[in-house]
Amino acid sequence: MSLTEWPARRFDRDDGRPMGIRDSIADEIQCSRCGELRDRSDVDRLLWCVGCRARARLIAARRARIAATVLAAIVAGYIWGIIRPTDVVIGGWIATVIAAYWIGGRLAREIFYGIERSNRKRYPGSTG
Ligand SMILES: [Zn+2]
Repeated sequence: MSLTEWPARRFDRDDGRPMGIRDSIADEIQCSRCGELRDRSDVDRLLWCVGCRARARLIAARRARIAATVLAAIVAGYIWGIIRPTDVVIGGWIATVIAAYWIGGRLAREIFYGIERSNRKRYPGSTG
C-alpha cells in the first residue's frame, strides 16, 4: 500500500451513520429554471445555473440581431427616403446606420435578456 492511497482507504469504510438526504444535497441547489441540481457556486442570486444563463443570453442575442436589423432598416429608409443625402456625406450616413445597428443591438440584447430573466416559464424539455 502506497502512502498516497492510505487516506482513501481509511475513509472508504462505512461509518455506520445513516446517509441523510441533507448530507447529499448540502452543496447543491436546484436551478429555478431547469430544475436540475447544481453546485452552489454555479447558481446565481436568481437561482439560475450557468447553462440556463447562457441559454437566455443566446436567445436574447438572437432576438437583438433581428431588432437591430429592423432598426437599421428604418434608419436607412429614413435617411434615404426623407433626408436624401448627397454623395459627399454618404459615408457619414452609412456610419449612422451601422451605429444604429450596433447600439440598437446592444441595447436590445440587454432588454431581451432582462425579459428572458424575468420570464418565469421554464425551458421546454427541462426536468423541473
Ligand atoms: Zn438551469
